[in-house]
Amino acid sequence: MRIARRLQELPPYPFAEISRLKSKAIAEGVDLLDFGIGDPDLPTPPHIVDALCAAAHDPTTHQYDETGTGTPEFRRAVADYCSDRYGFDCDPKSEILRLIGSKDGIAHLSWALVDPRDIVLVPDPGYAVYKTGATFVGATPYTLPLAPDRGYLPDLDAIPVETAQRARVLWLNYPNNPLAATANEAFFERVVAFAGKYDIIVAHDFAYAEVAFDGYRPVSFLSVSGAKEVGIEFHSLSKSYRMTGWRVGFAVGNPEIIAALAKVKSNVDSGVFLAVQRAAVAALTGPQECIAEMRAVYQKRRDLFVDGMAEIGWKIPRPAATFYVWAPIPPGFDNGQEVATALLKECGILCTPGSAYGQGGDQFVRFSLTVQGGQAEEKIREACRRIRTKIL
Ligand SMILES: *Cc1c(COP(=O)(O)O)cnc(C)c1O
Repeated sequence: MRIARRLQELPPYPFAEISRLKSKAIAEGVDLLDFGIGDPDLPTPPHIVDALCAAAHDPTTHQYDETGTGTPEFRRAVADYCSDRYGFDCDPKSEILRLIGSKDGIAHLSWALVDPRDIVLVPDPGYAVYKTGATFVGATPYTLPLAPDRGYLPDLDAIPVETAQRARVLWLNYPNNPLAATANEAFFERVVAFAGKYDIIVAHDFAYAEVAFDGYRPVSFLSVSGAKEVGIEFHSLSKSYRMTGWRVGFAVGNPEIIAALAKVKSNVDSGVFLAVQRAAVAALTGPQECIAEMRAVYQKRRDLFVDGMAEIGWKIPRPAATFYVWAPIPPGFDNGQEVATALLKECGILCTPGSAYGQGGDQFVRFSLTVQGGQAEEKIREACRRIRTKIL
């Protein structure tokens, strides 16, 4: 059987070897401490689950979502949420599009905006979907290295002029997965100027908008002057409201881009279950204590982790946002793959080698604080004990 070239051209799935070793460890009865996947281990708040149950009992939610962009209630709730929490206004009629999780929109955006052989600017390390989406339409990804000495922000001035002229889309993601880095207004202002100069569309992935600590509030790209002329922003309910399995998110911003993405999606899917949109309205407009609770839980885990590792001699920066810890590899190892393999084999600890997010992650491993299987705090303490005796 012949498989399409665009699939054959995708790099081998970077998590395959780790998944294999994980299954093997579990089969051997290893008491696994799972810091692998970034998927909230706490359940969705009950008032959101209740809203879904009630909506699912209403037969008018059982049919196709024929709105094309989301129910009026959903888009109203999103517009209010964006102005209340992020300080920018958007028109619910033309500037919002519901998504089957933000990954849906991220993967499909290139279909709307990019032609074969165009350039798409993608961060490295970064979330793989930006690059995959570009590759699927025959575009050429151009890597923007993100390095610690620049606070993991791309150096826009280092992009060759000919490359910038051929580029259609610039992908950004702050707070960042896997780097846990953040961006400020000044950076986004530079991005707006750069995008205007070269006629590049900015796509900002804001999945970790609400996952931040010590009172820090992540900045929306759209809150910066001129941003809506050049871009859109992807929001997700997955991390903010612990709704990863529900598949609901949205794109917001420039109406031409929103219309183009909506056109692609109207040709490939039939929208989001109307009951899930009602539950999303309950999340966005209901009590927000669940967000403060979530932040407190991850902040405590972050401190246990970073302080615990520092005590045993592994110095790791303390993230201001996201539930990831981006750890430089300890002395005595060549790369993150080696560290991840040793942690699994010697300590029964699962993490992700940084190279899974691109070349630039080679000297790092990523730990997710969404520790799977319960007892997260005890598992973090146990991880420090195991690493002290077996690795450091
Ligand atoms: C989790 C995550 C998303 C959100 O995906 P959904 O499809 O909304 O669940 C998007 N971008 C990044 C970088 C993520 O880590």
